[in-house]
Amino acid sequence: MKIGVLALQGNFREHAAMLRRLGAEVVEVRLPEELEGLDGLVIPGGESTTITRLAQLYGLEEAIRRFRGAVLGTCAGMILLDRNHLGLVDLEVDRNAYGRQVASFEADLDLDGRPLRGVFIRAPRVREVGEMDVLAELDGEPVLLRQGRFLVASFHPELTDDTRVHEKFLELVREEMNVRA
Ligand code: GLN
Repeated sequence: MKIGVLALQGNFREHAAMLRRLGAEVVEVRLPEELEGLDGLVIPGGESTTITRLAQLYGLEEAIRRFRGAVLGTCAGMILLDRNHLGLVDLEVDRNAYGRQVASFEADLDLDGRPLRGVFIRAPRVREVGEMDVLAELDGEPVLLRQGRFLVASFHPELTDDTRVHEKFLELVREEMNVRA
């Protein structure tokens, strides 16, 4: 499996390392043509305004909209995919909405009946969600969601040793490859 990691700014190296650990071939994506031939794409956390600006500058927004493989967006990556940005997933988020004092924190989430450590760094908070499957919540609010070939997390699964979110993403990539085959 060939997975691209959007490498404009933010935590792309950590995602790449985790995907390699899981056996994927990883490509850093900075230009639209680098999306060609990829089976999946990760949009990492970082600074969404910076990533958005650079993506516009390099013509990546249209290329990402045209991309047909599975996509994982984490934190700023989730912001980029929402209704107010690329409009690829049916949700709306508030940026930096967990407040100043608790801007960054860790919390135990539940994924498939097992604890998952969630690292939240100036995380977006889901304000409104349409037709999406909620895979994990924090205090009753969704923090990991899926819509078809899109998986989005408001936290940073690439910053712990737990590989389950990335494994889920690779399953989606595989499913999507079968759909298109
Ligand atoms: N606060 C950042 C933003 O609004 C997102 C934080 C992150 O990706 N860790 O872009």
